[in-house]
Amino acid sequence: MDTALADRLAAVDERIRDAARAAHRDPAEVTRIVVTKFHPASLVTDLHALGVRHVGENRQQELTAKRAELTGIRDLTWHFIGQAQTNKARAVRASADAVHSVDRARIADALDAAGADGILDVLLQVNLTDDPGRGGVAPAGVEELAAHVAGLPSLRLRGVMAVAPLDEEPARAFERLRRSADDARRVVPDAGWISAGMTGDFPEAIAMGATHLRIGSAITGPRPPRD
Ligand SMILES: *Cc1c(COP(=O)(O)O)cnc(C)c1O
Repeated sequence: MDTALADRLAAVDERIRDAARAAHRDPAEVTRIVVTKFHPASLVTDLHALGVRHVGENRQQELTAKRAELTGIRDLTWHFIGQAQTNKARAVRASADAVHSVDRARIADALDAAGADGILDVLLQVNLTDDPGRGGVAPAGVEELAAHVAGLPSLRLRGVMAVAPLDEEPARAFERLRRSADDARRVVPDAGWISAGMTGDFPEAIAMGATHLRIGSAITGPRPPRD
């Protein structure tokens, strides 16, 4: 086992506890998702042995392959955090326990239609940048999209997700996300998840009220290059 991995995980968890305490929050209300994208399935096995129970992937094919390889590990929740495509909805639904990246009605409809049984947890990805080409629904559209998702029988709206823009203080951007979270909760009162915070900004996300952190490289080390 890679002791450096264990050390990085412990160090991040300590920073999570510190940030939660500083914000007068219970660290137990913060779920730490380890983003394992681009790394081999063996890393997920190592993380699981260290007690990790939530992992995140951003590509459907990689998610599907890793989950198929690791069927022996049952007590692991797989979060899909990448751009979702309607023609991949069936595959995403088959492999993900939660989808953080619902940003338009069409992908919500496709995920709903792909559900043979059970309920899929979904979050609305909110675009915190000024660039409409980036992933995510504009903050002004959150309430309408939340209402749409709430009407789909096999999806359960859990909350909102976002990536902080590179050119802004994360704390300021996360304030906008918190308002989007309020918008979603006006439609679905128990949709209280806020998925925010990555390697570079998770303490700010915790201060803002994030319930789900998506932390990659601070725990996994640098990602292998990808074509
Ligand atoms: C890769 C990724 C992360 C993790 O990024 P790090 O900076 O390595 O922590 C979080 N969220 C999304 C959507 C990602 O694609």
